[in-house]
Amino acid sequence: MTPKIWHPFTQHGLGQDIPEVVRAEGATLYSTDGRAIIDAISSWWVQTHGHCHPKIVSAIQEQSAQLDQIIFAGWTHEPAEKLAKNLSGFLPDTLNHIFFSDSGSTAVEVALKMALGFWHNRGQQRHRILVMDHSYHGDTIGAMSVGARGVFNDAYAPLLFDVGSIPFPESGAEQACLDALTAFCGDQDDPPAALIVEPLILGAGGMKVYAPDMLREMQHICQSHDVLFIADEVMTGWGRTGSVFACEQAGVTPDILCMAKGLTGGVIPLAITAASAPIYDAHFSKDRTKTFFHSSSFTANPIACAAANANLQIWQEEPVQQRIDHIVERHENFAGKLTAHQNVSGIRQCGTILAFEINDSSGNYMSAIGPDLLRFFADRNILLRPLGNTVYIMPPYCISDAQLAAVYRAITDAIVHFA
Ligand SMILES: *Cc1c(COP(=O)(O)O)cnc(C)c1O
Repeated sequence: MTPKIWHPFTQHGLGQDIPEVVRAEGATLYSTDGRAIIDAISSWWVQTHGHCHPKIVSAIQEQSAQLDQIIFAGWTHEPAEKLAKNLSGFLPDTLNHIFFSDSGSTAVEVALKMALGFWHNRGQQRHRILVMDHSYHGDTIGAMSVGARGVFNDAYAPLLFDVGSIPFPESGAEQACLDALTAFCGDQDDPPAALIVEPLILGAGGMKVYAPDMLREMQHICQSHDVLFIADEVMTGWGRTGSVFACEQAGVTPDILCMAKGLTGGVIPLAITAASAPIYDAHFSKDRTKTFFHSSSFTANPIACAAANANLQIWQEEPVQQRIDHIVERHENFAGKLTAHQNVSGIRQCGTILAFEINDSSGNYMSAIGPDLLRFFADRNILLRPLGNTVYIMPPYCISDAQLAAVYRAITDAIVHFA
């Protein structure tokens, strides 16, 4: 019997249709039943330059014929070395050590282990991780532990480790967030090891936006209490928020930065956890027990590194920033039009991400309107996947004006339809 495919975040009991895609180009997906679908969420927030970009395709082709895979513990290869060198133009100078893994979740696990290893190897008792309410950092046990608790992880709650949660800096209530952080940082009995945050916008938690000033304040508080500052740029990295990394907009340099999704242009899995010299130095020793004990079989896979190098090359050779700026402008324009609708609230934008709520009574992820919206957009050949009643657009940067207009039109229709 053919094994049945079990899809992620999919309730098969609802019996929904699972479309099959055969081909993709730019911002367009082509399904087996002959439809052309606009990918308005960048295939779950990963695609940046659009599907099947020729430079990334050929980099993968060439590399896979040259060197496909090699152990990375104690070995190296040209695509990884080249990537390290090229990244220096994108990362702040202080993040001068990079550690490879395979996904956003593992990049976060690595960051947490680096932070805990830092204190452990220095002989200090600091174990507590601080997090922000509504955060999402991945689906492995460690990443779930530092993320928001709820229906997604109720079944595993007893296994998740304890963290210190600070409130999300809601507009007008920012001080509560800073006060909670200060209190945790000043706790002499249980000094925190690190704070992990999604800079400027919380993705899976509902596209919640906060000001760069807040990010700067939070880092300042951490710094003055020797608490490590971890920026999870898995979603925000590679242009999503309007700058290459979101931290840039706040003038903040984290101690550890996680990136994944857009690192290869969103084509194949690869993640990097970048760390400052003190983190690396705490693990650097003649003593083998101080080694950073983390690896996965495909750490720094050469084909994935080649794809990442092609991504960096595209950033250097093509007007990527202009494309982003153009989307930002178009979104701003559409956001202005959204205000005319009575049943729309919470209109917000962070770079290429535009989000708002369609008012309904429940107002959470399990909101009944969510699946209906998904179907509404699918019927119009647009891939949008609302988070409950939160509708958001996060397009690849190559999306055309006509395609954006079609997305905006479908959204306007939905607002009217569900009023
Ligand atoms: C998607 C995401 C992750 C997890 O990345 P995966 O590659 O899906 O494991 C972690 N952090 C943030 C902020 C994300 O958006």
